[in-house]
Amino acid sequence: MISRPRHVVIIGGGITGLSAAYAVMEEAKKAHASVQCTVLEQDSRWGGKILTHATQDLLMEAGPDSFLTTKPAAIELCRALGLESRLLPTNAEHNQTFAFCRGKLRELPQGLLAFRPQRVDHFMRSGVLSVPGMLRMGAERFWPRPTRLPADESMSEFFSRRFGAEAFHNLLEPLVAGIYAGDAQELSIQATFPRFRELERDYGSVIKGMRALQARPPKNLPSSFPMTMFMSLRGGLGELTQALTGILGAQKVHLRLGETVQYVEPAFHDDDSHRIFLRDGQCLVGDALIVTTPAYSAAKILEQACPEFATILNDIPYASTATVSLAYQAESIRPLIRGFGFVVPRKEQRALLAATWSSLKWQGRSKAGEILVRTYVGGRGRDIILEKEDQEIGQVIQQELAELVGVTAKPHFMEVNRWHRGMPQYVLGHQERLSSIASLLQGKPRLYLAGAAYRGIGIPDCIKDGMQAGKEAIQGILGDHAPVSLEKDGL
Ligand SMILES: Cc1cc2nc3c(=O)[nH]c(=O)nc-3n(C[C@H](O)[C@H](O)[C@H](O)COP(=O)(O)OP(=O)(O)OC[C@H]3O[C@@H](n4cnc5c(N)ncnc54)[C@H](O)[C@@H]3O)c2cc1C
Repeated sequence: MISRPRHVVIIGGGITGLSAAYAVMEEAKKAHASVQCTVLEQDSRWGGKILTHATQDLLMEAGPDSFLTTKPAAIELCRALGLESRLLPTNAEHNQTFAFCRGKLRELPQGLLAFRPQRVDHFMRSGVLSVPGMLRMGAERFWPRPTRLPADESMSEFFSRRFGAEAFHNLLEPLVAGIYAGDAQELSIQATFPRFRELERDYGSVIKGMRALQARPPKNLPSSFPMTMFMSLRGGLGELTQALTGILGAQKVHLRLGETVQYVEPAFHDDDSHRIFLRDGQCLVGDALIVTTPAYSAAKILEQACPEFATILNDIPYASTATVSLAYQAESIRPLIRGFGFVVPRKEQRALLAATWSSLKWQGRSKAGEILVRTYVGGRGRDIILEKEDQEIGQVIQQELAELVGVTAKPHFMEVNRWHRGMPQYVLGHQERLSSIASLLQGKPRLYLAGAAYRGIGIPDCIKDGMQAGKEAIQGILGDHAPVSLEKDGL
């Protein structure tokens, strides 16, 4: 037995895993503890779903294109990494979003996308709803709260119950689809937007609750630069993962690409270590283990040692989507497009979930004279389109852009990025699944599960979750002072 610095192993090099590694190093520094950290990523690049792709003329996001600022974790991390001057707000002059409904594109009220409408009376003027639909929606303020609130309900049940079926189908469903690529009849309101249920519980009405909250100042966001509801970075979100790997490398974190974890043998007792087996037969030994892969990969990794974990993790469903970037000559498309883009309600039975005029939404996404368009297809129950060839997908999209917006010009560039099982779905029963996972983790010292599959799929949620796991890992290992044996193949 020889003593060695404590070792934290993190599986997965997406934003959750990299944030976890960052927190591990920060917490170790604060505690003046010598800690080694290894991040294992099966792919040949860092970032997971975050994938910025630049050509000479275009800057494209194959995965996420921005993060929400009402949850501060992403902004705070950017500041800590020295990226404040790189933050990119959305363009002020095109700040509208549209929904395709009742035969044409209609402007949505501002703030609705973040489920914090600034002016509820904008609902009344948007033209998205018929007069009876508007009256029903407005009546939400007086709509009685059930005497006994159900423990959970689907998004569609909740929003239809509060705001009426038309508001749900025309306004709220496409926004849900945009965020989760999901089916609102399956998604749990409690797991996705618990705040709405809290507003109903505390104020008797969502609208009344939102109005009361608007009177309060926004959360502790820095005010030294222009802040919009969604932000990106000048060089795309890839800058964030690049900055993270840069700083982690400088702190001597072992950053290992192309390393697939086959399975793990988690510690069973407080003085045990975790063993992590790689595809090439190597075995790493870790005092703490943070698994940040998608739930189905975590299930595979843990299956052998903890089959009960695997069953629960495999129950978390995923949706598959594709983003398709198209570039047009500006003059052929500019007169036809307005705002940042549009969403399409599921009931319209279109292939498109959403389209973003990236060059209007962000500075520097294309050179002058070109317009970059980002479209989004697939989703829960609609992923059959991903089986088509790229060219066929492109044709479907072009046809819908022609029908919905009148764009008949041919793009001079197109790129399809498929995300098979890319979006976890927090369906009814998700909270119970999380509780079962938490109880199982109690019997596994210093094992942590974090990432998009659990407590939020947005980038700020993943950062917060990864950092929390990193902090807990340090607390877990520094609370235990016994020396750990160095295995032959360890590290
Ligand atoms: C198309 C799309 C658009 C999105 N748009 C937005 C948006 O605009 N804003 C927003 O906030 N969020 C958005 N999201 C959601 C957000 O991007 C993701 O939820 C988040 O990036 C997930 O991060 P993660 O680190 O938890 O998981 P991932 O990014 O999936 O990272 C997990 C990593 O684990 C690795 N891995 C898996 N198995 C193993 C193994 N056995 N061994 C080693 N490594 C393994 C994977 O290769 C992967 O790199 C979008 C997601 C998609 C797919």
